[in-house]
Amino acid sequence: MILSLKETKIKSGAIFVLMMVLLAVFSAACDRELEEPDGGKVIAITTTYPLTFLTERIGGNRVTITQLIKPGVEAHDFEPAPSDVRAISNSNIFIFNHPAFESWALNAATASVSDGDLATVIVQTINLESNGEDHGGQVTHDSDFDTHTWLNPLEAQSQADRILSALIEVDPEGSHLYLRNAGGLEVELLALDRIITEQVSNCEFDTAVVSHLAFGHMAERYGFKQIGLAGLSPEFESGPSQIAKVIEKIKELGISHILQEPITSNRLAETVASETGATLLTLHPLEVRTTDQVSSGLDYIDIMKENAEVLHTALRCS
Ligand SMILES: [Zn+2]
Repeated sequence: MILSLKETKIKSGAIFVLMMVLLAVFSAACDRELEEPDGGKVIAITTTYPLTFLTERIGGNRVTITQLIKPGVEAHDFEPAPSDVRAISNSNIFIFNHPAFESWALNAATASVSDGDLATVIVQTINLESNGEDHGGQVTHDSDFDTHTWLNPLEAQSQADRILSALIEVDPEGSHLYLRNAGGLEVELLALDRIITEQVSNCEFDTAVVSHLAFGHMAERYGFKQIGLAGLSPEFESGPSQIAKVIEKIKELGISHILQEPITSNRLAETVASETGATLLTLHPLEVRTTDQVSSGLDYIDIMKENAEVLHTALRCS
């Protein structure tokens, strides 16, 4: 069939109109997703900053987040106030790491379930069963497990997966948005992993001296070892004889940097640095951000990139 010029114009005009209608329908659908859910935003409570970051990225506009452990606070020492327990009971979703990190979390969540009218979905984002040692089936102490999984972006991705599933459960209408955001987040986390891999390769040293043993998952991923001036929690400080051994080891290996933390006391790190002539640098365990990091808008990705640069220097990588 041969169309006249006029007919062609009409036809293409009709197609144009049809496309505009489809586009309008499609963007209306997207707008609805971006809007608040019918019953108001999803109320999420998180414990530590990496969980806030992951939830923010996935939840976008549909979720409002309160982080219980505030910036600049030593996260291992945190105990919830009655108002925190109430906040959990009034939330739709409570997101924590693992009972070996937040030993209070399950109690607080249980109290909230019996207390509140709303059913709060409780999300434990770390599963350590495969990594943890078996002590006759009993977890007797925090130090039985290293729960700082978020310091490996690929393990942070597993935490993100659990948050995504929970958000979809709580707010199925937002699932398209959550899935799309989670896809973008995954791309970012994979890119971060590549950056750290690049920074921490071809290194002169394979050992980093750190304040507390928070960096096991990161060390495993990027191929270095950590020596801690304190244990899995900063409160388990090494005794004088252990510190003497660490100092000996630093001298023996020629380690030139001690990696202190921005929030915990650095008294031990300072002592060891002055004893050995090593330089202090700051490696962030990212439990919570410092108040300065909050005011300058540094996020998980930014701080992890800084960590990679610090390791690059401390391990003398090329
Ligand atoms: Zn820690």
